[in-house]
Amino acid sequence: MHLNKSTFDQVVLLFFLAFCLATLGLHCLAVIRPFRCSWPCNALLLGLLIRFPRLDTLAGLSAIYAGMVTADVFYGTPFAASLGLDAANLAFIATGRVMLLSPYLTRPYPRRLQALLRVFPTAIVAAAVCAVVGSLASQHYFHDDLVQGWISWFCEQVSTAILLLPVVITLPRRDEWPQIFTDLRASNLMPVISLLVSGVAGIYVGGGGSLIYPLPALMWCAISYPIFFTCLLTLLTGITEIILVAGNVLNIQGSEDFFRIDSLASARLGVAAMTISPLIVALSTTANKKLVARITRRADYDFLTGALTRSGLSSQLETLALRRNKQTGYFGAAFVIDIDRFKSINDTWGHAAGDYVLAKTVECIRQSLQQTAIISRMGGEEFLVLIEGISQPRAFLLAERLRQSIERNTIILNDRDLSVTVSIGISTLNITDSTSLDESIKSADEQLYIAKSSGRNRVSPEFVL
Ligand code: GH3
Ligand code: MG
Ligand code: MG
Repeated sequence: MHLNKSTFDQVVLLFFLAFCLATLGLHCLAVIRPFRCSWPCNALLLGLLIRFPRLDTLAGLSAIYAGMVTADVFYGTPFAASLGLDAANLAFIATGRVMLLSPYLTRPYPRRLQALLRVFPTAIVAAAVCAVVGSLASQHYFHDDLVQGWISWFCEQVSTAILLLPVVITLPRRDEWPQIFTDLRASNLMPVISLLVSGVAGIYVGGGGSLIYPLPALMWCAISYPIFFTCLLTLLTGITEIILVAGNVLNIQGSEDFFRIDSLASARLGVAAMTISPLIVALSTTANKKLVARITRRADYDFLTGALTRSGLSSQLETLALRRNKQTGYFGAAFVIDIDRFKSINDTWGHAAGDYVLAKTVECIRQSLQQTAIISRMGGEEFLVLIEGISQPRAFLLAERLRQSIERNTIILNDRDLSVTVSIGISTLNITDSTSLDESIKSADEQLYIAKSSGRNRVSPEFVL
């Protein structure tokens, strides 16, 4: 395989990372009681491959395997056994890599988001595959029990992966840090304080439920802080709980001395903590939906006049088309309305006055038409009105009435009465597909041009009356 300089650097980097992490796992974690059986190496390396796409190559995967085997051999594991055991570790990383980023499983999202969404199923499947290879290797080389081996490999890999993978995957890029600090400064400390308080409460209360006490606080953190910090806080909470349980500080057996309550009461509190958590997520989802609705409203309606924007118009027509039988389409008339000599209003009274006149004119259009009329701002001082189910003669009369009411509508500006006139081009409307609206607008536009060139303040229909 041809390796260029930067690929070579990455391969060497991955080899040393795998070597160091495996050595750390073999030497240090083995002697720290709470972590005796934990092997964070796989989840960390898998997370790095996702977080840094440049490391994510076949050569990188081979370097990881070589690094782990070397660490094992240095530690004193027989070479053949090292090959077998580290094949299990490699199986975890390779399976995880495929599952986290496979484009075949669901609609692909951006790389890191997609991986995050799949952490849970990936941890289970990758751990299961890893446990098959690992338990077979342990049985073959060390005559360990196959089922027991599978269970212990599986449990360890699942829990480690779920804690570690999100932190590594969400590790911010250099350009993301400033935004994260801004977000952190804007958020308050209460979620973290409640996390500490619920953790300490767990220590005092003890019993089986006490492990779950921090859950609502973690949920609160999740909706308050940037995702990386939530993952970090979750990791710290998890590790702390493991240490506290191992050190018997967090007493999950429960006892009934002065401070601690009985285990049923502890479990009740735990269940309460668990049941409030989905509610927190539901509240956050509701808030998100409201936000999306507000943003959609902004995109669909023109801020100045309240008329539909072009995107608002097309989504409105889509909903109308969906609601009724597609064959019937949307029949009626299209008016293209343009304010006459609007530029001179801007020039004489200023832009703000022009804005006010625009808003007032749309108000007048809206009041003169029935509620079902669709009013959209095409740009500048030009508006499109769609009226459904109207005959040609009635469309002409309606447009004429509209023109007159705009002319009569006095707009008070700096204590002066002002009135504007409009020219209106009319075309028949028959929306059956996406191009038919454009065609109607085009012919109404041509009529508008005729109305303008024949003196303004008039209505010009496409059809002969
Ligand atoms: P005509 O009768 O031929 O339509 O003449 P007109 O002056 O109305 O048309 P023209 O297209 O020459 O000028 C339109 C003006 O509308 C130019 C532009 O500055 C102004 N305009 C466009 N959008 C806005 C807006 O949002 N606010 C204000 N105040 N003016 C706008
Ligand atoms: Mg104009
Ligand atoms: Mg114009």
